[in-house]
Amino acid sequence: MGDSVTALLRATFEGGTTRNFTWRRSQLLALETFLVEREKEIAAALHADFRKSAAETFLTETGYLRSEIRFALKHLKSWMKPQRVAVPLIYQPATAYYRPEPYGVVLIIGAWNYPLNLTLAPLINAIAAGNCAVVKPSEHAPHTSAVIASGFGDYLDRSALCVVEGGVEESRTLLEERFDYIFYTGSRMTGREVMHAAAKHLTPLTLELGGKCPCIVDGSGDLRVAARRIVWAKFLNAGQTCIAPDYVLVEEQKEAELIRYMHEALADFYGDDPRSSPDFPRIGNAYNFLRLEKLLAGSVPSAGVFTDHGEFYIPPTILQGSSMDSAFMQSEIFGPLLPVIAYTGIEEALSCIRREKAPLALYLFSSVKSVQEKVLLHSRSGGVSINDLLFQASMHHLPFGGLGSSGFGAYHGRAGFDTFSFQRSILERSLYPDPALRYPPYSRLKFRLLKMLVTLFQ
Ligand code: NAD
Repeated sequence: MGDSVTALLRATFEGGTTRNFTWRRSQLLALETFLVEREKEIAAALHADFRKSAAETFLTETGYLRSEIRFALKHLKSWMKPQRVAVPLIYQPATAYYRPEPYGVVLIIGAWNYPLNLTLAPLINAIAAGNCAVVKPSEHAPHTSAVIASGFGDYLDRSALCVVEGGVEESRTLLEERFDYIFYTGSRMTGREVMHAAAKHLTPLTLELGGKCPCIVDGSGDLRVAARRIVWAKFLNAGQTCIAPDYVLVEEQKEAELIRYMHEALADFYGDDPRSSPDFPRIGNAYNFLRLEKLLAGSVPSAGVFTDHGEFYIPPTILQGSSMDSAFMQSEIFGPLLPVIAYTGIEEALSCIRREKAPLALYLFSSVKSVQEKVLLHSRSGGVSINDLLFQASMHHLPFGGLGSSGFGAYHGRAGFDTFSFQRSILERSLYPDPALRYPPYSRLKFRLLKMLVTLFQ
């Protein structure tokens, strides 16, 4: 992609087409048609990329995106409405309002672990807000990237929306150009580089990053349900989920029981040999496979743990008897390994989770209200879910985003529309009256009057 593509997009934006409701609606509908008509092709691409099952693809990618589009279509008119504000006496007669306006040409860079969702969900928000967009899917999900590129060509307005396929080099080349907003999903390390590139053009941005999301189980509720939910959320997508529980902290007395239920859940979901389960995906690339294999080999007795280089298979593994000092706890796991660490008293659990200042998500299984309140009060995170996991990120009414090292900014639903819009303030005044009071020279009397008016009536 050269300057010509952004130049075309910029010309389209300046022509004003993307600002109107009809264009936004037509592009959202076209994206929906792509997701419906190409559902099989999309599922095949995700399967080819890392053996993701059609059911998981629907649940976490196409199904989610379709409902995000429906939500945007339902609310778009009201989101676009200008907001009138009161006019203080000294500015009257006048009307004042602000209205959301698109930034212009935006860049969306996606990660590979939910390769469709992480590029198209921000795109839905960007279109709803009336922007032109360049989307850069991840090179580590090449089949999905190709389907996205062909979908754009066949369904969307090519003068306003385009895809650039490729990896680090293509991304860096894109970042040299001036965009009006950058939306990045991926690792912290790359996030820093993206922010650095954005600074050069003073481009505002959102960073959706990762980290270690803790899950506390205080043992006060039904442990079997907690275990099933944790195992489902952790091993979905083979643990390659930014908001997956990275590790479990369990009240010491309940550790053995929780682990027993977790093993039962694993067997229920994936059978005795998860490798042959159609619902258990593979690791997305060689780098992550080797990283996880090394982590596994170095930290637990590896008897019975079988990995497969040929197909990047790492089995779903619960790591009993882990501690906060183990190798697993030094960085985000981002794979199907789940350390379980025992604690005594909620204070100890809280001091453990505070090691990661603000994870993207925090999970708590507790039916004790005072414990729930204490954990909320003494922790920080992008989102929280009590007695369940992941769904805080799939509700269109809840903003989704990180804090501190897990990123900043938010999207999904209204939050996404707001992210891709800026609020333009507009004041319309009458030419009369035009009192001399505002103009110099400022006599002592004028100054006193001005002081009174500004302090009392502004
Ligand atoms: P990554 O940083 O390697 O790549 C993400 C994107 O950035 C890709 O499109 C890639 O081509 C591009 N890229 C890579 N290096 C670049 C560079 N130097 N300059 C510019 N662009 C570059 O991340 P990944 O491995 O695809 O994703 C895994 C990480 O993302 C994990 O930490 C995970 O927790 C996080 N993540 C966060 C969210 C979220 O919503 N917050 C969602 C998914 C993943």
